[in-house]
Amino acid sequence: MAATATDGGDCRLPISFELLPPRSDAAALALGRTIDRLADVQPAFISVTFGAGGSSRDRSLTLLRYIREQTEVEPMAHLTCIGSSYAEANQLVREFLDAGITSFLALRGDPPAGTAGDDAGTGDLSSAAELVQLIHRVQEEREPFGQFGIPGIPGASAIRTRPRPERVAVAAFPTGHPRSRSAWQDVDALLAKEVAGANLAITQLFWHADDYLGYVERARAGGVTIPILPGIMPVTTTARLRRLTELTGVQPPAQLAIDLEIEPDAEAQAEIGVSFATELAREVLLGGDAPGLHLYTFNRHEAVLGVIERLGLSEPAAPGFGTHRTTHERNTTK
Ligand code: FAD
Repeated sequence: MAATATDGGDCRLPISFELLPPRSDAAALALGRTIDRLADVQPAFISVTFGAGGSSRDRSLTLLRYIREQTEVEPMAHLTCIGSSYAEANQLVREFLDAGITSFLALRGDPPAGTAGDDAGTGDLSSAAELVQLIHRVQEEREPFGQFGIPGIPGASAIRTRPRPERVAVAAFPTGHPRSRSAWQDVDALLAKEVAGANLAITQLFWHADDYLGYVERARAGGVTIPILPGIMPVTTTARLRRLTELTGVQPPAQLAIDLEIEPDAEAQAEIGVSFATELAREVLLGGDAPGLHLYTFNRHEAVLGVIERLGLSEPAAPGFGTHRTTHERNTTK
């Protein structure tokens, strides 16, 4: 019987990582080393964030190209559509496909800080689901499917099946999106993304395994069938914990905040963060439905590699959660 991540044995569970585009040449150099270390564990993919409104467009694309050209790892581009016209979003997807990036995390993104809570000025695409559809549409336009002639055989034709981006992932919110009014609204939003053609969901970070497990249970009851990858971050400083809480609105456990706050030694703080994330991941994996682990790195490899080593997941993983056929794919590729 294959060992599992939870008994510390050899396990083939897919791991993936998230990186942020670097803000300086020095940061880019340091990131190169981090990427090498992350690539050593052969993750299923490494995703790169994208500033809503396109603020990091060039830096994100440069980093994605680096991953594609310098490692064997699949790069995944986060893309946001907020504030973009349909033509701009179309051009953005094209540009990334032209650069050889074929996996995406499609997001709506947030309006700039200070913008009123309504959807004024959000652009032509009002949700991540519409961006998912656009990614598939652009791909189809670039490589249309249907009947085509076979060179050298007059009158012969064949059906070309639709070439699909490798992964079109979307965000999921186990503790609820800040603007969501009910837990079921979040499930419905995820289902809409699956119907639009998403084949993987990646969760916002969460601090209690039950948040993830309960969300997956609701999602399955609500008809969602795509893999829901738990997103976990080892948080190793108080400053980072505060920043994350600001960014995500997800409240951390008071005990974790206190433990980090009162520990003066940086190494001991790192230990607190790595142990917490390891235990959280272990509980999530014991729940049975997690298709892998997505680790938020904050561009540092030490803590995330510490987590996967303690879970016994450092061995290269087999490809796993990208092969799911969504309702959209089943309907469009007969
Ligand atoms: P949508 O799917 O369109 O909406 C998601 C949820 O928002 C729905 O469940 C719904 O309940 C709620 N909602 C949306 N609009 C409304 C509304 N008008 N009224 C009520 N409820 C509403 N942001 C970036 O800018 N760049 C990134 O690279 C990035 N990466 C991310 C990666 C992950 C894994 C996650 C989880 C989030 C990331 N985000 C990123 C943040 C994301 O853009 C925001 O959370 C944004 O608010 C929602 O994006 P979405 O794609 O989920 O939107």
